[in-house]
Amino acid sequence: MAHQTTLTCQCGAFEAQVAKADPKHGNHLICYCTDCQAYLHHLDKADLLDENGGSRIFQVMPDQITATKGLENLAVLRLKPKGIYRWYTTCCQTPIANTLGTPKFPFAGLAADNLSAQDGLGPIVAKVNEKDALNPVDGFGLSKVMRRTMRRVFWAKLTGRWKKTPFFDVSSKKAIVKPYVLSEAERAAAYGQPDMPS
Ligand SMILES: [Zn+2]
Ligand SMILES: [Zn+2]
Repeated sequence: MAHQTTLTCQCGAFEAQVAKADPKHGNHLICYCTDCQAYLHHLDKADLLDENGGSRIFQVMPDQITATKGLENLAVLRLKPKGIYRWYTTCCQTPIANTLGTPKFPFAGLAADNLSAQDGLGPIVAKVNEKDALNPVDGFGLSKVMRRTMRRVFWAKLTGRWKKTPFFDVSSKKAIVKPYVLSEAERAAAYGQPDMPS
């Protein structure tokens, strides 16, 4: 089996190759947290959420990802000043990946819908932040997924593989584009809070 998968934004301007997109080298999970929901509302892509408000994520190591087309369309936002980095494309507002704000904790949660070869991802191994789900959901798998991720991060640090990432300039440790922090009004809209009376 060739474990090579293409990640494409909705309009096709941005493309990346994802190596080893399989259950051994990635965590296929659903996150129901309000942040992930707010993120898709902000991008005007709430249709990507499942009926319970879940986002399907495939967690990989950044060195598995190679941007092959339209990298200039990649942008990053933070819902809150200290929020995680949420990468998306400016061409068509497609959510791409979530990362931490540093390449030194190498980890990327890809928006799984954008991946070709869906079958290769394997079954859902975890449902997390189920308390924020729109309907009752049984959560599972969080500790297993965290253990696997910590082990991978450890190895990536040990071997220097953390330095291969499409998201950061490793010498400066900075994101390849400046993160945009949502304004208060944008944040309120994303989280579905009523407009402030004027
Ligand atoms: Zn696009
Ligand atoms: Zn989430």
